Amino acid sequence: MTQVLDPASGTVVAEVPATGPGEVDAAIARAAAAFETWRQVAPGDRGRLLRRFAALVDTHREELAQLEVRNAGHTIGNARWEAGNVRDVLDYYAGAPERLTGQQIPVPGGWDVTFHEPLGVVGVIVPWNFPMPIAGWGFAPALAAGNTVLLKPAELTPLTALRLAELGLAAGLPEGVFTVLPGRGDVVGERFVTHPAVRKVCFTGSTEVGTRIMAGCAAQVKRVTLELGGKSANLVFADADLEKAAATAPYAVFDNAGQDCCARSRILVQRPVYDRFLELLEPAVRAFRVEDPAAETAEMGPLISAAHRDRVAGYLDGATVAFTGARPDGPGFWHAPTVLLADSPADRHWREEIFGPVVSVLPFDDEADAVRLANDTEYGLSGSIWTRDVGRALRLARAVEAGNLSVNSHSSVRYWTPFGGMKRSGLGRELGPDALHAFTDVKNVFISTEE
Ligand code: NAD
Repeated sequence: MTQVLDPASGTVVAEVPATGPGEVDAAIARAAAAFETWRQVAPGDRGRLLRRFAALVDTHREELAQLEVRNAGHTIGNARWEAGNVRDVLDYYAGAPERLTGQQIPVPGGWDVTFHEPLGVVGVIVPWNFPMPIAGWGFAPALAAGNTVLLKPAELTPLTALRLAELGLAAGLPEGVFTVLPGRGDVVGERFVTHPAVRKVCFTGSTEVGTRIMAGCAAQVKRVTLELGGKSANLVFADADLEKAAATAPYAVFDNAGQDCCARSRILVQRPVYDRFLELLEPAVRAFRVEDPAAETAEMGPLISAAHRDRVAGYLDGATVAFTGARPDGPGFWHAPTVLLADSPADRHWREEIFGPVVSVLPFDDEADAVRLANDTEYGLSGSIWTRDVGRALRLARAVEAGNLSVNSHSSVRYWTPFGGMKRSGLGRELGPDALHAFTDVKNVFISTEE
């Protein structure tokens, strides 16, 4: 049994059994058997089942959101968005089975056609920071493409995934098509990598574990999608709307208490406006509402665990703190929003993914300097560019090495546009029109017309 805690109070909210090695193998066998029938379900019927699943998620949206507030300490506003995102992603990919078309390619002596064949059993491994959306980004397109899915939630946050599996069954998904297996990464997750009947691993988590998963999958040439860490840059040029850039910067890094792979945790400010930007940033950070995540007004809740809070706090040792926001006293795993001044790009807090409400600020001189500093990282997930110069925005949008960029905005995720990382932030793309193909293999068939 694993105890599941409420991060806002530290109290136990549930006990969840950890799936053992024998049970994982049995679940893989059931998913492999279910694949043989699931792949035969008519496209329209598969789409209808996914639409029904989406509708059930919608009617249980508040329940799922409240569960996430208790289990992950997410603000209620965010948690409602997250449950809604699962619904939307299911709805979006519910339209896919009927549109999973191949090509007809002209060849002499016959016909040549291609098919997007489902892979079989897909293992989805989810981290604790966004338990619902990241689960949905994996299981919705995988199921739509005709695969069966085994999903392993993070040890700390299994509750919403378990509820989603119940809703899937209630919607009419056949047994074995979508199964949630709570448990340890080195037991359940590792078995997805080593078991030959699992044909693809869709992993979101740390770059360290992702690297090991990719190496493990290589032994079987197993398909893999990786969504890993980030250390994204928020570039603020002197000609930008400074008020807006400063007012929005806290949301771009402190949302979800900074436990966001897309967090813009490095702010680069052009030197002439560096002081003015910090002056504008300070009141925005101090006003950031860190409170009981169940409160409608909450903008930030606690961190996921005591151990994680201590790890985050460790980055403040020896660092120059510019200013901090507020945090509640008492029980729970709280950490105040914190702004650090980087002395140089070699600073540990500038280079490493902190995954907490801590942002580092550094000045830059010109466009070339900004690009060099932004790209001076092993990561490449997201980033923002603030400037009123359209030409510069376009040049920067191409020059910054990241999979998801926004100009004069901090948006990263829309379920109908692709999402994923460059460099060591990942491999492959989720969401959008192409994600479906990551859960299929192309088959080419030649049919001779010779007599
Ligand atoms: P983690 O890598 O420790 O764990 C992620 C998942 O992998 C968990 O379910 C865990 O149980 C499992 N796991 C652990 N060891 C395993 C193993 N040996 N084999 C198989 N599975 C194993 O990451 P975390 O601490 O839960 O999440 C935080 C990290 O996730 C951060 O680095 C963050 O940037 C990243 N992240 C990336 C994205 C993205 O889309 N790029 C999104 C969210 C989080």
